Amino acid sequence: MNPKSISKQTLMRLPSYLSYLKSLPEGDNEYVSATTVAMALGLNDVQVRKDLACVSKKGRPKLGYVTEELIKDIESFLGYDDLNDAIIVGAGRLGGALMSYDGFKEYGLNIVAAFDVDESKVGTEICGKKVLPMDKMAELCERMKIRIGIITVPAHAAQMVCDMLVKSGIYAIWNFAPTHLKVPDNILVQQENMAASLAVLSAHLAEAIKKKGL
Ligand code: NAD
Repeated sequence: MNPKSISKQTLMRLPSYLSYLKSLPEGDNEYVSATTVAMALGLNDVQVRKDLACVSKKGRPKLGYVTEELIKDIESFLGYDDLNDAIIVGAGRLGGALMSYDGFKEYGLNIVAAFDVDESKVGTEICGKKVLPMDKMAELCERMKIRIGIITVPAHAAQMVCDMLVKSGIYAIWNFAPTHLKVPDNILVQQENMAASLAVLSAHLAEAIKKKGL
């Protein structure tokens, strides 16, 4: 099965399975079952069983999966063993922070350069990655076969940047700007919505405070 044929919910749960499996001490956990994973992460047993069956056919009755094999199968399913080059547009505070983070390679993402309209930033480097002028985007994407674009520009500029990315041959966009992007059907936009996460946190906090009568 390939990642396109399973649900987005399953795809979004797989990284937490992986992180749990990788946290298990080596030696003591040769085998792991869906039930163990479900209990550790507070998830539904049947759900986890189904999710794992999508990525690995190597589960054994009563024993479960060989932990190392399951880790490899999930990584390979998620494409972590296959590094994808990406570009960032908007080398500001957030763009710079993402460029400085070394850990994306573990998830198969390699940020190669950034683009910005600010002439004072163009020509500089962030963690060894160049900030380039916007008119170099199409040529770089074509030459390096880049298919992932990350948007970290202000909301008002995001649609224009998105259109430029699509014209440059980008197929998958990770958008941090708080705005809805219009794209052709063959382009995937993953919206990073911090406002939604904060709304959940703040609703929980309000409920907890109400219960305590504070
Ligand atoms: P910032 O002002 O520090 O950086 C924005 C960068 O985009 C600047 O370098 C600017 O020159 C560049 N830019 C502006 N218009 C452009 C264009 N048309 N083409 C190319 N580059 C352009 O902003 P920031 O704080 O890094 O936030 C960036 C985006 O991420 C915003 O949409 C913001 O709402 C969102 N965001 C930021 C944070 C955060 O923690 N900073 C968190 C969540 C979401």
